[in-house]
Amino acid sequence: MIRKVSRKICLVASILALGLGIAVVSVSPAEAAPIATVMAQTQRMSDATLKSTQAGWYNKGSNLQLSCYKHGQAVKGYFSKNLPNGGWDDLWYRVSDGYFVADVDIETHSNSPVTAPCIGNPAPSSQSKSLAWPLQSVSINRGFGVNGHNGIDLRAGMGTPVYAAADGVVRFEGWGQNNSWMGKPAGICVLLWHPGKNLYTGYAHLSRTVIDSGNTVKKGQLIGYSGNTGQVTGPHLHFEVLPANPSIKPPYYGRINPRPYLP
Ligand SMILES: [Zn+2]
Repeated sequence: MIRKVSRKICLVASILALGLGIAVVSVSPAEAAPIATVMAQTQRMSDATLKSTQAGWYNKGSNLQLSCYKHGQAVKGYFSKNLPNGGWDDLWYRVSDGYFVADVDIETHSNSPVTAPCIGNPAPSSQSKSLAWPLQSVSINRGFGVNGHNGIDLRAGMGTPVYAAADGVVRFEGWGQNNSWMGKPAGICVLLWHPGKNLYTGYAHLSRTVIDSGNTVKKGQLIGYSGNTGQVTGPHLHFEVLPANPSIKPPYYGRINPRPYLP
């Protein structure tokens, strides 16, 4: 949320923050998530509604890392006097702790969402952070949901080793056009099935693979090498997560946000 009186200043701040965000992305192992300041003590909710479960409070002055947004129950808050519609606002954010906060009580320097939308349900707590990063050195180039992106792009030069994110079985390896889920844009790719998690993980744009369909793999096992096959502008690793029974519908073609499953 933003106070209208300070829009001009905040616009400058946003531009500065954007510059900072780009700098952070290039060195940080984690996605550079927007940080917001709590302007008034506000409820820590399990969903984007005051009818969901409350788990304590977010205190005034604390900084929250926002992971995604959701339109939920309209509420009034700290910024209400500056809002149209009598101050009611239905924008909420999921915080990095997995809980939700109303936008009307936090300073994001914008009235519009500053993150990608929340897709599907959050990772079940038993699976939160249960996948490993598929690269030894992680730098996110493009997050899930950015302009409809259905995975996470990781920086990787040609031939960087790619590892299985969890124990599983190789459901597919090879050119994406030979698999209905991965498709031609994926280039040379791997699709792993993780029975214990009820998830698939996908790895795209590889230069080659070192496993065969039907093989079992262990978490952290080498499965191939990064490359620039398929629809790319340069070498990188595209990593994605699919639920057990995905429905292949836009905008994300059944994929879910991998971020809550990763460290
Ligand atoms: Zn991608």
